[in-house]
Amino acid sequence: MSSRVGVHNVNDPLFQSMSSDNLMFVAILEKNYDVHVEKCWVQIAEIVSSKNVSSVVRYLNQKLPAPKLQHLKRVKQDKGRFWIALDIIEPEEPLEKIQCPAICLTDVLAGLSGKLGPIIKAEVPNRGPLTRAQFIECSKLWPVNFHPEKNVEKLVSNNVFSDEELQWHQKMMARVLDLSREHGQPSALVSDHSREIVVAEGVDDRKSHPLLHATMAVVEEVAKSQRISSANVESDPEDRIYRGDKNGEKLIASGVAEVYDKCGGGECKAEASCGRDNDGEKPYLCTGWDVFLSREPCPMCAMALVHSRARRVFFAQANSQVGSLVSCCQVQFLKSLNHHYQVFRLR
Ligand SMILES: [Zn+2]
Repeated sequence: MSSRVGVHNVNDPLFQSMSSDNLMFVAILEKNYDVHVEKCWVQIAEIVSSKNVSSVVRYLNQKLPAPKLQHLKRVKQDKGRFWIALDIIEPEEPLEKIQCPAICLTDVLAGLSGKLGPIIKAEVPNRGPLTRAQFIECSKLWPVNFHPEKNVEKLVSNNVFSDEELQWHQKMMARVLDLSREHGQPSALVSDHSREIVVAEGVDDRKSHPLLHATMAVVEEVAKSQRISSANVESDPEDRIYRGDKNGEKLIASGVAEVYDKCGGGECKAEASCGRDNDGEKPYLCTGWDVFLSREPCPMCAMALVHSRARRVFFAQANSQVGSLVSCCQVQFLKSLNHHYQVFRLR
């Protein structure tokens, strides 16, 4: 790993203003949530009379189901005229070409004699909309089926956090940026929002070990804390890394064991939000917790967050050389992985 990866630009304006109220987050979504709509070509034909619409649709749904067009409504009404989509087609293909080789379009249309106008080509969306913005764009081409997802709409519109949640996340980000400024190195922090505590903090320490990037350092802190809890060993007061700031009072949690006892030891009142099991199993690293990073993680660190089951990852500064959440790749969207965290970046 190049030593440059560890260079942290503390002169960046980001690190000069630590007022947490100014810190706003943007959800990172997969490209297919962009407003841009991809198109494809279909054959369409006008239904010559509105009274034929139902019978034509019924007939074609049976004879020419067009499985690749399930995201479209079969009929488009435009200025009093009705058009029906027949099948998907490549732009250079003849109008009679049908995707299913067992079906002859001429034979099918023979059963609709006098009910359809000539076949023409039209551009339609090539998949169903995922967001309301996409739905609006798709509908300009052809009516589409749309089932809005509340959570997706919140993410797209940057309206995912309540005021209370946002304030907590802002505080955590301000804290990790403070750490970074203090040490002149990338920093990381694990937060348990359900209990409003900082579980662990870590600072890049590659001078001690080449793998001790900030993320690896904080995951190691969490692992260490759980080993201590698991062994029922009282942690060294000097190692107490839990800090919170609830109701204006500085809280120092009484050590790693407390987190384990209340959250992983069988009585988790905040199970729904923290995602931890309530069956007495030991906690597993960052399950249900949020990770705040002053800098976008490298592939190793991004994968470490996958393996440690982080719930959400918030980062401040992009890392154009090796960043693995937005800059060079997007580990969080790899379908082959068995865990995916939501990513937010500082705006
Ligand atoms: Zn790293």
